[in-house]
Amino acid sequence: RQAQSSDLERLGILGHGSGGTVYKVLHRKSSSHYALKVVRLDHDRYIMREAEILKKINSPFIVKCEGIFEEGGSINFVLEYMDGGSLANLLKHKKRMSESFIANAAAQVLKGLKYLHGERIVHRDIKPSNLLMNRNSQVIKIADFGVSRVVSQSMDTVSCNSYVGTCAYMSPERFDPDSYGGSYNGYAGDVWSFGLSMLECYVGYFPFLAPGQKADWATLMCAICFGDPPCAPPGSSAQFRSFIGCCLQKDPSNRWTPSQLLNHPFLTEFMHRFK
Ligand code: ATP
Ligand code: MG
Repeated sequence: RQAQSSDLERLGILGHGSGGTVYKVLHRKSSSHYALKVVRLDHDRYIMREAEILKKINSPFIVKCEGIFEEGGSINFVLEYMDGGSLANLLKHKKRMSESFIANAAAQVLKGLKYLHGERIVHRDIKPSNLLMNRNSQVIKIADFGVSRVVSQSMDTVSCNSYVGTCAYMSPERFDPDSYGGSYNGYAGDVWSFGLSMLECYVGYFPFLAPGQKADWATLMCAICFGDPPCAPPGSSAQFRSFIGCCLQKDPSNRWTPSQLLNHPFLTEFMHRFK
């Protein structure tokens, strides 16, 4: 067994999610900081076995899970601590991000997705609150793979409403697989969620709704399934508009893969400028 809660001193709350609470903790023996995600679930051997998959994930573009333990009816995930918070936090404070910031973030997220898909893993919960930064904001990693997988196994069967934060970034084919000739495999769904998240970073609001607009779940789902996909505004560069368009193809077979997107001019041209 690795970390136990007696080794971990809770220093404060980093945030709340639908599944539970995330604390900043100090591991006394190593005097290092971690994030501790506590998810209340009836403990169940199957869920614990699923959670074990997390420990095998090892990529510089994915928040590392250092340990998992059960305590008092909760599952505790000991996670690499990202001191810059999430892109969702940044959106709340800064409102919008520049194309160069987004290009740098996008390249790292796509490398993380390429790794996961290469390991035959679908993340299923890409969204701004699951993209975490280090303080200098140069390093961005994907969080909550597996956590979401574990949590959603109990959530999906309950009701989408209780999990609305996640459903909002779900691709059309995940709601409606029959309309897409059964080509649904989940990988392309991560790219949709990624594209929507990057567009949100640019415009500063969830792209399926007007700024400040609230909608019930049914209205939102109709917009995702039956409306045109959102696109980047005319004021943005042609490369960025094309990049977002390649991610937000409604038909998953037309959507670009992470490897293809890593070679899109929006990213390759920015990389040249930074050299
Ligand atoms: P959901 O429960 O739908 O996934 P969420 O992603 O906002 O929503 P959590 O994953 O519980 O919920 O995370 C809550 C917040 O805690 C995040 O938005 C982030 O700001 C913070 N957080 C999560 N993991 C870490 C981490 N490893 N390092 C630093 N902060 C983190
Ligand atoms: Mg999360």
